[in-house]
Amino acid sequence: MNSFQQLGIADDLLQGIVALGFETPTPIQEAVIPAALEGDIDLIALAQTGTGKTAAFGLPLLQRINPSARTVQALIMCPTRELCVQVANDLENYSKFAHQYKVVAVYGGAGIEGQIRQLKAGAQIVVATPGRLMDLMTRKAIRLDSVERIVLDEADEMLNMGFKEAIDYILAAAENRESIWLFSATMPEEVRRIAATYMDNVREITVGGRNQTNENIEHRYYVCRADDRYAALKRVVDANPGIYGLIFCRTKIEAKETAEQMIRDGYNSDALHGDLAQGDRDRVMQRFREKNLQLLIATDVAARGLDVNDITHVINYGLPDEIEVYTHRAGRTGRAGKTGVSITIVTPKFEERISQIERKNKAKFTKHPLPTGMEVCEQQLYNIIRGIHEQEVHYQEIEPFMPWIMEELKDLDKDELIRRFASVEFNRFLAYYRNAPDINIRPKGDRGGRDGAQRGAGSGQMHRLFLNVGEIDGINKKEFIKFLSRNFGVPGGSIGQIDLNKAYMHFDIDSAYVNVVRQGLLDFTINNRRLRVDDAAPQKEKKSGRKDDAFYEKWEKKGKKSGKKW
Ligand code: AMP
Repeated sequence: MNSFQQLGIADDLLQGIVALGFETPTPIQEAVIPAALEGDIDLIALAQTGTGKTAAFGLPLLQRINPSARTVQALIMCPTRELCVQVANDLENYSKFAHQYKVVAVYGGAGIEGQIRQLKAGAQIVVATPGRLMDLMTRKAIRLDSVERIVLDEADEMLNMGFKEAIDYILAAAENRESIWLFSATMPEEVRRIAATYMDNVREITVGGRNQTNENIEHRYYVCRADDRYAALKRVVDANPGIYGLIFCRTKIEAKETAEQMIRDGYNSDALHGDLAQGDRDRVMQRFREKNLQLLIATDVAARGLDVNDITHVINYGLPDEIEVYTHRAGRTGRAGKTGVSITIVTPKFEERISQIERKNKAKFTKHPLPTGMEVCEQQLYNIIRGIHEQEVHYQEIEPFMPWIMEELKDLDKDELIRRFASVEFNRFLAYYRNAPDINIRPKGDRGGRDGAQRGAGSGQMHRLFLNVGEIDGINKKEFIKFLSRNFGVPGGSIGQIDLNKAYMHFDIDSAYVNVVRQGLLDFTINNRRLRVDDAAPQKEKKSGRKDDAFYEKWEKKGKKSGKKW
């Protein structure tokens, strides 16, 4: 007997979930399903997304619908449009081989008239965002007096999103309800208040401990200087070549800028934030879901509707203000029985907050040193080699070329061949990371070393570079030298003459540091402006820079945005 059957799930629904590949109930399903089928009791279930909570409430809910009554019998409230659509789809999938219940999803951000028509055509289960439902109620497009069961899905998120008033309005109006099943990842005061006001004889179901983050999730953190945050992000991503990750930013601007920087740096990534039109948001989420995007850089609000199972890493590009938000973020990985890693990049100022989260979530964090450039290269190399084993070969198509290939490569022995094939990809990372500085914060007095090259081991040969920032950007020579030293480990003695102009500059730098500085500078912006580095003639520039000055003067007049100071 299938264990869902043992929980009391009827045969016709069973067929649906078997078709979806559900074999064993998840812990939350095991606990909720029998209780929900038992009678008209109120339930509070502490469950994160990814634990199987939709089926935990969806299956008993479907089973208790009277197929012959045409009235709205069940109401599911969700925080976002995406979740509404997802839940409605899930219900339809579970009941694929059962009675075709009428499920209608109503949510904001879509035309209300079509939703009114669907409701008029008859709905037995309504899945709604609270705001839109309240709107429909005030327009008298829906009545809740026949509703028997109400599910509050992600109750804490709905309250976070400001739906408190709408939830109160709806719960007060559904006066004939027999039970409320409340699902929440965390139990803040507001959720408690809802329970105390509207629920009786509550049965609380906690799987795996209250406020505890999923045990399948490993929590790691890295500490770096504020200036090195982006470089640290890159290292973490590069040191995990198979990453399928969600990167959380605190603000829309940060998500947008970080995504722009990552795209420029060649990462298969995009941004998801509230300034995007709904259609664009849907498209980005779809690309990520289909794994056509490897990294999604999102704000907490915009990522709410995203439901993806096999995210390998969540990266907190800075900690959120609220501990609950961390729980939600981390809960995006380690879902459906898989393991995942939640990574946090913090500056020393915020390190203390890690212990606060640990205490509150009873989750153990481990501090890791940021990978050195060589460690990144090593991981990439392992990945390349593993990839060779998995590489699909089109024998038929490549066969005609084999004699020629063999002839071309016949002077190389096996070792040399392997070395060269591996180098095709490896060199790209090596070029970037060969002279990359150690960006871990070192104890005072320890000046650290460089990866691959010794600090101060200059070639003695100077090289002149152009940089498209100057006095108008607040640059001064002393600060610039400090900046190069702090970020790229360039000793003061390896920096030669600096010629600072209004909108651009030239500087001499020891050739040993040219690559790392050229690449590394691209990770920074000044006043939202992308840095451009170029080779310059070794002599002092003539007045040809005037054109540039004029350009920037014009640009400056248009209004200079205040951006991240480097
Ligand atoms: P949820 O927490 O409802 O968003 O579910 C997370 C994911 O787990 C969804 O993709 C479900 O399809 C899947 N899932 C839920 N229950 C089971 C189960 N018993 N066995 C396998 N997968 C499941």
